[in-house]
Amino acid sequence: MDSEQLWQLTLNEMELQLSRANFATWLKNSRLTEKKDGVVCIALPNNFAKEWVENKYQKNLLGIIRNLDSTTKKLEFVVDSQGLEGLKKSPATLPLKIGAMDLDFKIDPDTNLNPRYTFKSFVVGPSNELAFAAASAVVQEIGTKYNPFFVYGGVGLGKTHLIQAIGNEIKSTYKNKIKPKYVPSEIYTSDVVWGIRNKRMEDIKKKYRDVDVLIIDDIQFIGGKEKTEEEFFHTFNSLYEANKQIIISSDGPPRSIPTLEERLRSRFEGGLTADITYPEYEMRVAIIKGKLAEAGQQLSDGVIDLIAKKVKKNIRELEGVLKKILFYQDKKGGEVNEKVAEEIIEKSIQTITKRVNDSQILKCVAEFYGVTVGDLIGYSRRKEVVEPRQIAMYLLRDISEFSYPYIGEKMGRDHTTAIHSYEKINHEINRNSTLNQKIIMIKDIIFKT
Ligand code: ADP
Ligand code: MG
Repeated sequence: MDSEQLWQLTLNEMELQLSRANFATWLKNSRLTEKKDGVVCIALPNNFAKEWVENKYQKNLLGIIRNLDSTTKKLEFVVDSQGLEGLKKSPATLPLKIGAMDLDFKIDPDTNLNPRYTFKSFVVGPSNELAFAAASAVVQEIGTKYNPFFVYGGVGLGKTHLIQAIGNEIKSTYKNKIKPKYVPSEIYTSDVVWGIRNKRMEDIKKKYRDVDVLIIDDIQFIGGKEKTEEEFFHTFNSLYEANKQIIISSDGPPRSIPTLEERLRSRFEGGLTADITYPEYEMRVAIIKGKLAEAGQQLSDGVIDLIAKKVKKNIRELEGVLKKILFYQDKKGGEVNEKVAEEIIEKSIQTITKRVNDSQILKCVAEFYGVTVGDLIGYSRRKEVVEPRQIAMYLLRDISEFSYPYIGEKMGRDHTTAIHSYEKINHEINRNSTLNQKIIMIKDIIFKT
């Protein structure tokens, strides 16, 4: 095998291991310049890329290359200016293909509900049937019997899906007579902070007390924020007394949120609580088949079985692995076999274990720029917060590969804003080395915390 071939195969492998943005940023313009006496020399377009690839990807690269060519003992990294020219001429443009799967729906600006989340697309099994039954009951008896409805469970197990599905079901059952509103608790918090700061609390109060069904996602994030809790308590009471339905999700039962005020906790416990646990094998298979049907794609039973056996604890990860396999299949043409699927899964699982959560990313970006997380998700157009905000969206996509609608939701914005921010930063990185350096430093902070 000649050097060029060896490098091409290596890059193909790396592309599967890295996020698309990471791959484009760090490896797209690399070359294998020399292969001699067991030393493989790799040239990167600039010093940042060299340092980064050397520190972060050396081990993976060596592993892959050794697999392909067992005579390799060592890698060497150099900077070559030829690559830099190439880099300037062709800024990375990334295919939006996988993302496109996430984009053919629109979030309703009145309710903040994403129409993708329905009861119909929610697979029910032993791990969530209670929560699902409760959710269906809430739709029948809005504001009376099951108030509040509190659903809890670990990351990626379907809480957001289920509570948004309640909202969508209410919309379609009662047409426009009953008004639901979905809000992630961080957005609620930033609204309250904004209201206090701008002395417009009355507007905020009205905004939330005017709805018929208030759906608050990830309530654990308001724990410990006194003013927000206070405000939420009052909103809660006024809705409750007016027989309006309140739906809450959290990562654990009310008693597990350590900083939650006692009076809020007892309110939460006074309604209906249900948990969602890990899906069992049959359910994972059903979920995969459901997603395949949604995407109009196919995989062999062997591959489906493999995914279901290996990815157990998080449905979002299950979807992520599935997307990678479909992407690979699409790129190569023809069906992915079990061996290839297994490799893709193994690699995904390795990167999953390194995964950081979105709050951590926002916190690190805010810290780096000396602003607050509230500034990032707030609406100020001050120059000092615009760049950090875009970088936050970029990193949410780049590191965690969240869907644009999810990032938009997180940041209190439309998914098109999230796409725009990501594309903009991704483009700038290749031209603006200061920006590039900042991002490297922020990532370092994120991965070290
Ligand atoms: P959480 O809010 O608990 O972190 P999500 O509701 O965001 O999790 O779910 C993660 C992903 O998994 C979403 O894309 C969701 O549609 C999907 N998902 C979760 N549970 C189910 C289910 N029972 N059936 C189908 N898809 C599901
Ligand atoms: Mg969620």
